[in-house]
Amino acid sequence: MERCKKRERLVNEIELFISYGVTREEQPGALLFLQRYKNDDLALQLMRSFYTSLPETHEEALCRIAFIEKKDDIFLLGLQTALHGYLYLATDQKALFVGEYGEEPLETKALALFGYPDLKEFLKKYPHIEKCQEYVPDQLADPGFCPVCSAVTGAYHILGCPVEVCPWCEGQFSRCGCRFEQLGVEALEDEEELEELERLLKEKGRVPYAAWQCPSYPSDKDEEDGQDE
Ligand SMILES: [Zn+2]
Ligand SMILES: [Zn+2]
Repeated sequence: MERCKKRERLVNEIELFISYGVTREEQPGALLFLQRYKNDDLALQLMRSFYTSLPETHEEALCRIAFIEKKDDIFLLGLQTALHGYLYLATDQKALFVGEYGEEPLETKALALFGYPDLKEFLKKYPHIEKCQEYVPDQLADPGFCPVCSAVTGAYHILGCPVEVCPWCEGQFSRCGCRFEQLGVEALEDEEELEELERLLKEKGRVPYAAWQCPSYPSDKDEEDGQDE
């Protein structure tokens, strides 16, 4: 309860900063973006820090948060506006502006914390902020296990789990016909066939659970699919 109130207050505060700091044209976009992350403490801390320390000449809306690395509960993140990129450190308690992306950081120890002795080494690994994956709000993030059979990330599903991906056709293993084809039968009838199937599966290389198989995992594929008609 207390947490919700705190969050609400933070959201109101950020809305106020947006109304003062962001150009009129970009305000609707900034508010929408805020809505998307309104239940994520870390993103809210980031937005407050961003909108309160906005360089006066850049009255831009934040339009993307990029996840770079995480160490314990500290995140290294990239913040993007239409024209600029910034580097931040954040936890769900506070956020710290590190510097403009690609420029010498103001917080010199920030990169060292993640094992990069200097900016050059960091940029070798992350030359473009655009290429870093998007930071996903907490409630959408990978739960760490299959939502159906509870296999943890990297482990095999329980045989028959509908989330398992077929290694032969890359379809849904519980629905494609590969198991019959591989066994040369019309239907699975006994324990022996099941064991044989498991053996063939292992030989081919079973696909262990990973977050992208999760139906709620946001992917570009969904958008592509929608364009067919
Ligand atoms: Zn599963
Ligand atoms: Zn298949």
